[in-house]
Amino acid sequence: MSPARRASARPVGRRKRAKPDPVTAWSRRLARYRPNLARDVLDGLAGAYGRPIWQRRLDPMSELVLTILTQNSADVNAEKAFDALRLAYPSGGEASDTELGAGWGGTGIAALAPPDWAAVEFAPLDELIDVIRPGGLAPQKAPRIQACLRRAREERGEYSLEFLGDLPALEARAWLTAIDGIGRKTASIVLLFCFGMPLMPVDRHVERVSKRIGLIPPKASADDAHELFLALLEPDEMYEGHVNLIQHGRRICHARNPAHEICPVADRCRFIDPKAP
Ligand code: SF4
Repeated sequence: MSPARRASARPVGRRKRAKPDPVTAWSRRLARYRPNLARDVLDGLAGAYGRPIWQRRLDPMSELVLTILTQNSADVNAEKAFDALRLAYPSGGEASDTELGAGWGGTGIAALAPPDWAAVEFAPLDELIDVIRPGGLAPQKAPRIQACLRRAREERGEYSLEFLGDLPALEARAWLTAIDGIGRKTASIVLLFCFGMPLMPVDRHVERVSKRIGLIPPKASADDAHELFLALLEPDEMYEGHVNLIQHGRRICHARNPAHEICPVADRCRFIDPKAP
């Protein structure tokens, strides 16, 4: 019998099943061996920090630029750079007091209107670098900010990013991550905080706490972590999960010397007990 005929003679139903993708495999594994883990962690953290209520804090372009300024910098330095940007390129628009909310690590931004975005886009690069220097990594961030403004103007004819709110979450995220220097974390912050989209920004606090508890695998990359959370949490749990995991990382589950003895989720944490349920 020819090889082709032998293959076609293979009994139906004996074909190898395709392996599930790693995200599905991980969430099935958790559901089987550590049931209700994500729910219990959210409830434990809510007991300590409350359940944050979503509220928009900035217009989407301002949120994007502020988030770029926080990349690899302390929030307090990003605030200084964001204030400097609005003072250097004033738009004359209406100033509003903005509360950056739970999970934010700075002290607050000035009550100023968004800057004149055209002036920021067309500012000489060296000048813009000088303006945002207090935020750190200014030579990398200034071109990123100008690239975002250019993309919006060229594609949309304006600097507003409100149109993203009409797109499905993953499509909106893809639009943002197509811009040089904008990754899933930055894009997810903008879409979650401005539109309440069901996306989970994974910063260093979220990543550290989640890996210690065992919500995500210890070797998951930052990009994988973003996808894993979409499978682990319900859409309406993303905001609470993001804010409270950050709060937990800042207040109790520090990078060094985590305060296990007062941790509200210690009974489910694999960092202190490798056999925790
Ligand atoms: S038990 Fe310790 S390591 Fe685990 S989440 Fe709590 S503080 Fe972090």
